[in-house]
Amino acid sequence: TKQLAIVTGASSGVGLYSTQALIAKGWQVIMACRNMEKAFQAAHDLGLPTDAYQIMHLDLGSLSSVRAFHAAFRAQNRALDTLISNAATYLPQLKQPARSPEGFEISVATNYLGHFLLANLMLEDLQKSHLPRLVTLGTVTANSEEFGGKIPIPAPADLGEFQGLKDGFQAPVSMIDGKPFKPGKAYKDSKLCCMMMSRELHARYHEDTGIVFSTLYPGCVAETPLFRNAPALFQKVFPWFQKNITKGYVSQPLSGARVAQVVADPEFTRSGVHWSWGNRQKVGQVAFAQSMSDKATDAARSKELWDLSAGLVCL
Ligand code: NDP
Repeated sequence: TKQLAIVTGASSGVGLYSTQALIAKGWQVIMACRNMEKAFQAAHDLGLPTDAYQIMHLDLGSLSSVRAFHAAFRAQNRALDTLISNAATYLPQLKQPARSPEGFEISVATNYLGHFLLANLMLEDLQKSHLPRLVTLGTVTANSEEFGGKIPIPAPADLGEFQGLKDGFQAPVSMIDGKPFKPGKAYKDSKLCCMMMSRELHARYHEDTGIVFSTLYPGCVAETPLFRNAPALFQKVFPWFQKNITKGYVSQPLSGARVAQVVADPEFTRSGVHWSWGNRQKVGQVAFAQSMSDKATDAARSKELWDLSAGLVCL
């Protein structure tokens, strides 16, 4: 039988092209998407073979949707070889925080808390596989070890003392550190949380379960719809800037191929690692384990974040 991956947010960008690359490697893919019609159209437009994928409904911003998705998957009684936590929303121009059905700020709810709950629910399904992996999309802007993570626009990722989470993360709280709302920072914070979550999953479960937990930064995939809510001028200039100035630009197919490598290739079976191909792209580049900032590797803080998150998603 074919190996099975679930890709969250497979209706566009990195998730869609990861689906394509995994299918090309002979995998079966469940595309877990909030907009199923859009996912069908995207799969059709790319010419994905219809017997290689299945589309299931998942809105990561809603904890009840995450639980319903998991129940529907569990009912299929299948082993899961890899969960790819990819979906994300980036809303840099919001003036006021938008809220999830549970009342949480929407980018942290979608990008982090939804994946946190999903990962916890899926651990049992992953253990039915021989070589399970849980791969999470990180980003350079959440790692202050690297140049991209030092850029202070609008502010670097910073979770403070988790005051916002301790206060329940409901209105009027909108940021994890409990400080005033900054939408672009909320995205960076959510991605830092995802990277800390992966390390904490490794610390808690790798030895006992054999599941390989890793994160990756595929490069700057400047043309994905992630930037659809950024100012129009930014959307025009950003790909050019990344291609010609920073040389960080990566095409959508290459980003998908990199995710598929981390998911399927034997060179990527180390757990607790953040994979990168560097920030300046060259042909034939090879992945390496990128070191992470203290913010992302402090074990006590990762544990505290875990406990607070478990409370918020009612685990
Ligand atoms: P896209 O906007 O193209 O894709 C995001 C996907 O997430 C879409 O399928 C979107 O669905 C889905 N999504 C958003 N909200 C939800 C939700 N509530 N429930 C379910 N799915 C949802 O962005 P990218 O492909 O660029 O981003 C994918 C991942 O890659 C993200 O984790 C991002 O942080 C990461 N990344 C991206 C980089 C880049 O340069 N683009 C660089 C480094 C990391 P819909 O189609 O319905 O909107």
